[in-house]
Amino acid sequence: MWKSVVALLLLLVASPAAAQRLSGTVLPDRYALWFAPDLAKATFRGRAAIGVQLKSPATAITLHAAELDFVEATIDSGGTAQAARVTFDAKAETATLTVAQEVPAGPATIRITYNGILNDKLRGFYLSKANGRSYAVTQMEATDARRAFPSFDEPIYKATFEVSLMIDQGDTAISNGAQVSDAPGPEAGKHTVTFAATPKMSTYLVAMIVGDFVCRSGSADATPIRVCSTPDKLALTGFALEAAQQQLAFYNDYFGIRYPFGKLDILAIPDFAAGAMENVGAITFRERLLLVDQERASLGVRKNVASVISHEIAHQWFGNLVTMKWWDDIWLNEGFATWIASRPLAAWRPEWKVELDDAADTQSALGLDALRSTRAIRIHVETPDEINEVFDGIAYEKTAGVLRMIEGFVGQEAFRTGISSYLKKFAYGNAAGEDFWTEMTRVTSRPIDRILQSYVEQPGVPVLSVETKCTGTSNDINLAQARFVGTPGASAPQQTWTVPVCFKSTDGQPRCEVPDRPKQTFTANGCANVFANAEGRGYYFTEYTPPGVRALAGSVKGLKPVERISLLGDEWAMVRSGRHDIGVYLDLAASLAGDETAAITDAIASRIGFTLEYLVPTAQRARYEAWIRARFGPALTALGVPGSASDSDERQSRRAELLNLVALGGNDAALQARAKELAAQYMANPMSLPGTLAPTVLRIAAASGDAALYDRYVAQLEKLGGQPEEYYRFFNALPAFSDPALVQRTLKFAVSPAVRTQDTGQLIAGLLGQPRSRDAAWAFVQAEWPTLMKKLGTFQGIPGIIGALGSFCMRDTAAQVRQFFMKNPVPSAERTLQQAIERIENCAALVERQSSPLNAWIAAAR
Ligand SMILES: [Zn+2]
Repeated sequence: MWKSVVALLLLLVASPAAAQRLSGTVLPDRYALWFAPDLAKATFRGRAAIGVQLKSPATAITLHAAELDFVEATIDSGGTAQAARVTFDAKAETATLTVAQEVPAGPATIRITYNGILNDKLRGFYLSKANGRSYAVTQMEATDARRAFPSFDEPIYKATFEVSLMIDQGDTAISNGAQVSDAPGPEAGKHTVTFAATPKMSTYLVAMIVGDFVCRSGSADATPIRVCSTPDKLALTGFALEAAQQQLAFYNDYFGIRYPFGKLDILAIPDFAAGAMENVGAITFRERLLLVDQERASLGVRKNVASVISHEIAHQWFGNLVTMKWWDDIWLNEGFATWIASRPLAAWRPEWKVELDDAADTQSALGLDALRSTRAIRIHVETPDEINEVFDGIAYEKTAGVLRMIEGFVGQEAFRTGISSYLKKFAYGNAAGEDFWTEMTRVTSRPIDRILQSYVEQPGVPVLSVETKCTGTSNDINLAQARFVGTPGASAPQQTWTVPVCFKSTDGQPRCEVPDRPKQTFTANGCANVFANAEGRGYYFTEYTPPGVRALAGSVKGLKPVERISLLGDEWAMVRSGRHDIGVYLDLAASLAGDETAAITDAIASRIGFTLEYLVPTAQRARYEAWIRARFGPALTALGVPGSASDSDERQSRRAELLNLVALGGNDAALQARAKELAAQYMANPMSLPGTLAPTVLRIAAASGDAALYDRYVAQLEKLGGQPEEYYRFFNALPAFSDPALVQRTLKFAVSPAVRTQDTGQLIAGLLGQPRSRDAAWAFVQAEWPTLMKKLGTFQGIPGIIGALGSFCMRDTAAQVRQFFMKNPVPSAERTLQQAIERIENCAALVERQSSPLNAWIAAAR
C-alpha cells in the first residue's frame, strides 16, 4: 500500500490488546465468491463457498465477518450438508458456525449467503461517486476483506479466489483474475462477469471494481497491462502505461521470476483512502497519483506517479508472491517495495537523479527515528488499530534506508542474488524477517543477519561520533556509537548497532568497516578530511567536531551530491540535539547556496525556513530575511523568474525552491508582486508557466492574497475537476491564504460536501502547517471534533491531522493536545499522538538551546 498522502502515520502501542487471531485449526484453500452490488441502494448480496481443511474434528468453525448479515450458512463434508447456527462477536469481528454433528478432520466446504453494505468510509467494499454516478470498489488491506466476504482474514491463510459479479447492464467489472466469461442475467437488467481463479494469495489482496471504467491497453514481456480510469480521464493514462510497461519488464529481469499473476490492471479510483493498493493483478490508485497530463505535469508529479506505480508493481513480488506471516513483519512488504521502487526509474529516466530522492527519504526517516517515541522496525501488533498504525515512516522509509545501506555494503549483484533466492524459496507462501536475513547471509557470506537484527529489533538510530588523529602518513579514526535522541538535554538508552560504515577521505577511495561496540578505532591512509558516510547510504547520523564540519565544507567539492545531502542532514541533527550551535549549520548551508543540485537547495531551504519560523526572534527577523536575500537572491537572479520554458527539469526545480525561499523566507516584496502577476497569467493561460514552477507561484501569490484572489482559486477548483494535477495545485494553495477570514473559509470548505472525504485531512493538516493559520485550525479541530470523526472515521484523515499538530512549538500547547486526546482518544493514532507531542516539546527545547547562539550569529551575519 502507498500510505495516505496527508502525512506519515507514525505511532505507540498503548494498552495490551485482546487477541483476535483465528485458531489455525481450519485452513482455507479455495474461495468461490459471488457478489451482486446494488449501486442505487449502496448494498450488496453475496454468496461464499470456502473450501477448507480441518486439522481435527470440530462442531464449530470461527472465521472473520464484519458488518455482514448472514442469511444462510451450511457446512458440507463427506457428502452431507449441515445447517449451521451462527453467533457473531462484533468486537473480534468474527462469526462462529456451529453444527449438530461433528465435522471430521479433512476437507469440508463452508457455504454462506449474506448481505452487506457498500459503505462511505472507503474500506472493504465501498461506494465511490463521480460524474453523477456511483461506483463499487474495494480496499481490503489491512483487515477489511471481512467487510466484503466471510473469510479467514489473516495474511498466512493463502488460498485461490474465483470471483464472479452480477452487475448492471452497461457497467464493467475488474477483479484479480482475467475475465473468462460475460453472460446476460440471470436477473433482469443485469449481466454476470466471471474471472479466472487466482494463484494462492492472501485475503487482503482481493479486489473488485465496478462501474464504467475505460482502459488503455499495452503489454510487457507478453503480459497484458491496462491503465483504467473513469471515461472523462482516459486521455491522462498514457504516462502511467508507459511507466508500468518499462517497470514490469525491469522487475521480470531483476528478480529472475516472471510476473506471476497473468494480467495487470491499474486503476484510478475517484475516492480512495490510501495512496495506492497493490491488489493482485488489479492495482488501485488515487486519481492524482496515477493520471498525468504529459504536456503540463510538474517534475514532482511525474516522479511521484512513476515512483508509486513502481512501488505497487514491486509488491506483486514483495508482498503478493511472498507475503509476511503476520503484520509484525509489514516491513518485508513496504520497506522492500519502497527500496526497490527507484531502480526501474533510474534506468528509465537517469536525468531524474532518483538517488537524491532516496537520500532525502532517508533523512525524513532519520528525523522520525530521532524521537524517543519512535518504534522498532518490527513490533508486535494484534488489533486492526495497531495493524493500521504500523504503515508508517519506519516500515517504509527507514527499512528502505537500511536496505540501501546493506546493498551498498555487499554490492548490488550479490544483493540481487540474495533477493531473488529468497523470493524463489518462499514463492506463493509466507515468510518472516528471519527467513529473509538467513537467506541473505547464506547467499552473500556477509553478516547480514547481525546487521539486520540490530536494526530491525531495536528502536532508534545510532549517532557515530568521529574524531581523527593524524599520525604523519595515516589517520586514526576514533569511532564512538550511541543512540541518537534529537532533543537538547535528553538522555538516551544504552544501545549499540552492528553498522556497516564506509569511510572516505576527501582525496581517496571508500573503505568499509562493521563496528559493533560502543568505541572502536580504525586507520585510514593519508591525513585528508574523513567523511564517514561514503555514497550517503549509511542509516546513522555522523557527529564531526565543529572544526571538522568547517573543514568538510571547505572541501565539499570532493563529496558527491548524495554525500552533501547526508552531511547537511547530520549537521542539522547536531543543531536539533543541541550538540552544535546553529551557526555551524547556517554557514555550511550558505557555502552551498550556489550548488546546482535542486535536492540540495531543497534540503537547505526547508531548514532555513524552519529557523525563520521558529527560532529567529521578532527583533532579528528583518536582518535574517536580508541575509536570505543576500545569500540566495543571486542564484535565483541567475536562473531568472519565470526563466526559460525550455530549461531542464533540474533547473526548473531549483528555480522553484529558490523562489519560495527568497520571496517568502527573504520577504522580497518585488518577487511576491511578480508571483501575483504570474499567477494571474497562469489562470488565464495554463501554458504560460512551466508545470514545475506553477505550484510555487500559486502558493506565494496566496500567501499575501485577498478574498478576490481566493475566489478566483475556488473558481478554478470548480473548473478543474477533470484534471487532477491542476486541481490539486489550487487546492494545496488554499492553506497558504493567511487572512483570518480566509482561513475560516478554508476550514469550512474542508468539511463541506465540495471536498472529497479523502482530501479533508490534507487541507486541515495544511492549515496546521502554516504559522498564521495554526491556532485557528487547532481551535476548529477541537470545536468540530465530532463532525470530523463522523466524516473521516479513525483510519483516514484523522491520523494525518494529529500528526500535523507536531508543528506547534510551545509546551503549553503540548499539554493542551495531550489533554484533548485523553478525553477524545484515537486508538488508531496513539503513537502519532505521542510523536506529535514529542515534536512540540523538542521544538520548545530547541528554541531555548539555540536562541542565544542564533542571536549572536545573526548579529554578525552578512
Ligand atoms: Zn506499499
